[in-house]
Amino acid sequence: MEEPSALILKATKFAALKHRDQRRKDHVASPYIIHPVTVANELTQAGVTDPEIIAAALLHDTLEDTETTPDELLEVFGERVCSMVQELTDDKDLPKLERKRLQIEHAPELSPGAALVKICDKIANVTDVTHSPPPDWSSERRIEYLDWAESVVAGCKIDNEQLKQRFAVVLANGREEIEL
Ligand code: NDP
Ligand code: ZN
Repeated sequence: MEEPSALILKATKFAALKHRDQRRKDHVASPYIIHPVTVANELTQAGVTDPEIIAAALLHDTLEDTETTPDELLEVFGERVCSMVQELTDDKDLPKLERKRLQIEHAPELSPGAALVKICDKIANVTDVTHSPPPDWSSERRIEYLDWAESVVAGCKIDNEQLKQRFAVVLANGREEIEL
């Protein structure tokens, strides 16, 4: 088994390279890598220490948003990390609305590790929608996003009280901040 910090730094470097030309949708177009690092940081702040779950968080958007293949993840990070990232990847051939519906439908089937990454992804995105949203989003669209994120997380089996509590706080704060 690889040294935990070596695995985590390898995943950080891999994700940074894969997302190198991408930006977030906030008004300053932040470098994309800030998002997977934020998701991984949410996990560690809540006491999650499993290095393969932290690596999956760092890599969670590589299949969906870059040219990365499952074979590549399998080769570099092994079976479990690859399979968690696959669980967290939407089918981009489907229309957006259908993909959003499927996230709610499939949430109860996520493995324990993937479910932890999923709630941290939603914590990070709800925080972004609250404090650094895409500039063209109306308040209604931002609230719609919060409602959808809540439905996805409601279906996830989360074995971490701190993260459940943190999601509830971030969600309530978002609903208070976004003025309708
Ligand atoms: P998008 O899927 O287009 O964008 C949200 C995703 O973008 C997040 O889940 C996140 O994903 C990523 N992202 C990157 N930067 C940011 C940021 N700064 N803040 C938040 N998210 C960021 O939008 P929707 O989730 O709204 O999905 C599109 C749907 O919205 C369609 O189904 C369409 O029908 C509907 N729609 C609604 C409108 C409305 O006014 N109500 C208008 C137009 C469309 P990741 O973690 O993967 O990076
Ligand atoms: Zn994400």
